[in-house]
Amino acid sequence: MTEPACRFCRAPLGLPVLDLGSQPLSNAYLSPADLAAGRERSFPLRLRVCACCLLVQVDDSVPPKAIFDGDYAYFSSFSESWLAHCRRYAADSVARFGLGPTSQVLEVASNDGYLLQFFADAGVPVLGIEPTANTAAVAQAKGVPTEVRFFDEATGRDLAARGFAADLVHGANVLAHVPDIRGFVAGFPHVLKADGTLTLEFPHLLCMIERVQFDTIYHEHFSYLSLLVVEAVLGTAGLRVYDVERLQTHGGSLRLFCCHVEAPFIEAQAVDRLRLAEREAGLADVATYTTFAARVDDVRRAFVTFLDDARRDGLRVAAYGAAAKGNTFLNSCGTTAEDVVCVFDRSPHKQGKLLPGSHVPVLDPAKASEVRPDLLLILPWNLRTEIMRQMDDVRRWGCRFVTVAPEVEVTA
Ligand SMILES: [Zn+2]
Repeated sequence: MTEPACRFCRAPLGLPVLDLGSQPLSNAYLSPADLAAGRERSFPLRLRVCACCLLVQVDDSVPPKAIFDGDYAYFSSFSESWLAHCRRYAADSVARFGLGPTSQVLEVASNDGYLLQFFADAGVPVLGIEPTANTAAVAQAKGVPTEVRFFDEATGRDLAARGFAADLVHGANVLAHVPDIRGFVAGFPHVLKADGTLTLEFPHLLCMIERVQFDTIYHEHFSYLSLLVVEAVLGTAGLRVYDVERLQTHGGSLRLFCCHVEAPFIEAQAVDRLRLAEREAGLADVATYTTFAARVDDVRRAFVTFLDDARRDGLRVAAYGAAAKGNTFLNSCGTTAEDVVCVFDRSPHKQGKLLPGSHVPVLDPAKASEVRPDLLLILPWNLRTEIMRQMDDVRRWGCRFVTVAPEVEVTA
């Protein structure tokens, strides 16, 4: 087998810094019939770091068709805190950039239009680019103009040729999810006005490393990003970062404000402060990544011990949140439906299905009083407060809440 090349700088990558074994796609929820028919495929999940540009990435082990085929189980509109985050972002942007009826907002990977609808409600013209047909159709149905296609340099050129130019271009949780990060970023200069702003949000590698958030690693999450590396990627497209905000979303994310290199924006001090923080945390040193696997093993061992103890004490463990990150976590710990009896999730698209790999059944949270678990494991730990509030009822029979990384924590 040939050594894989870095998806940004094309340098050959060395050995994996973390090998999570063979895993199914994190969004490949199964019906019981799929399982009976043996329709589950697994692919190696390995994390590597490029010694040249320091981009942390997973291997391209999955045929791209397998990733985007079939039912796309993730509809963004189901998390309340995420919707509130988007509403705030839209309101802040309208104020900060003075957007109005003559402005244009573009979102790449616009999903079901959950974000653009807030701009549209404020009277700002919007356009979404979304490669998944069924989610784009939901956006169209609520009046959010959406083109069904991938965003890349060809799409950027095509939009520009049609006279399209945006005052604000937004990409939330998409930069980390594109296989060709360089080709993707190359599309932005074509669609951004000379004084326009590009905002990008992505989970921050610094948080993944500091808090051992290895559950954020999955096949479709190709790159694990720092300011350090993203500045280099943007530079290849003639773009630069002029401001940055650190967000609590997804367990710690960055929102970068970017512009054309020659645009008149003055760089905020926050940018330099973050560059320094990343260096101090060792993100510029390869050794930081090569020691990550041992820290992951500690978390996995602690969780397996927790499950063993629960079984010994005759306690019934259920989970909450059928999210991608939960699947990586459960599968890399070898968890099955014998350890975790079910997972509650509010998305009707997931209820009645089985989690990929672990085959834990997904149930409507309304069924919690029938299952009556003793321990409720919160898989999307970043939504812990929201979930504990939603599931408060389980306390009636003494059920306790559990979160795992970086340590197992049980809350009554
Ligand atoms: Zn590289």
